[in-house]
Amino acid sequence: VVGVSILDETPGEAGDRIRHDLARIATWGATTSTRSQQRAPGPSEVGHPCARRVAYRVANAPHTDPEFDPWPAIVGTASHAWLADTITRANAAAGRERFLVETPVLVHDAPRLAGTVDLYDTDTRTVIDHKVLGAASLKAHTTHGPKPGYVAQVNLYAVGLLRAGHDVEHVAIATWPRSGLTTGLRVWTAPVDVELACRVIDRYERITTAVRADPDVGDHATTTPGDDCSYCPWRTRCATAGGAS
Ligand code: SF4
Repeated sequence: VVGVSILDETPGEAGDRIRHDLARIATWGATTSTRSQQRAPGPSEVGHPCARRVAYRVANAPHTDPEFDPWPAIVGTASHAWLADTITRANAAAGRERFLVETPVLVHDAPRLAGTVDLYDTDTRTVIDHKVLGAASLKAHTTHGPKPGYVAQVNLYAVGLLRAGHDVEHVAIATWPRSGLTTGLRVWTAPVDVELACRVIDRYERITTAVRADPDVGDHATTTPGDDCSYCPWRTRCATAGGAS
């Protein structure tokens, strides 16, 4: 428990103690936040192209790889909160609610799939998902387009908004540089693809049914290795089961 460790008499000079304890607090905050303790998979997870990874997530399989440094996620979460607050204030300043901010949506009933939409632009009828990316990810995004999982995620949100009665025509991914300037913002857009979202939901249903019958079914599921494998919490288990190493 971080509270106990902070109260301990950690040896060392003031600077060393402060650095050690602040880093521990940041890691503790990231691993104990509501977001990190979310149990049900969300649209950002079920849309991942690797069925094995989704199966492990649906089964809530214990992570087999050490947690990665949480700082990029912390920056992303903080940026989302700042953008939500600022866009809400911009709506108020404009005297109209052009943007719907942080809208909860139910994408599918059973198995339940719910999430929170970063932004919906009522003017352009566009659902927008913010991504805060490091330099390498931004370059890959610019060169190759958004990751399939990102596209699936934002289309799942579109389905949730459509179910709630909103008129959605486009999906968009707003990529903000984790280190850089607002001039680095890029916005990818496409027509809403309900069929893609339905395929993802169908796969999620099939995987959920399979996991209920056998929680370890992920070990036999199809793999789709990619750059994300480096950050997969089940990479070691996947390799042991004959997948990516
Ligand atoms: S390591 Fe890669 S291939 Fe294996 S489960 Fe994770 S994402 Fe899929």
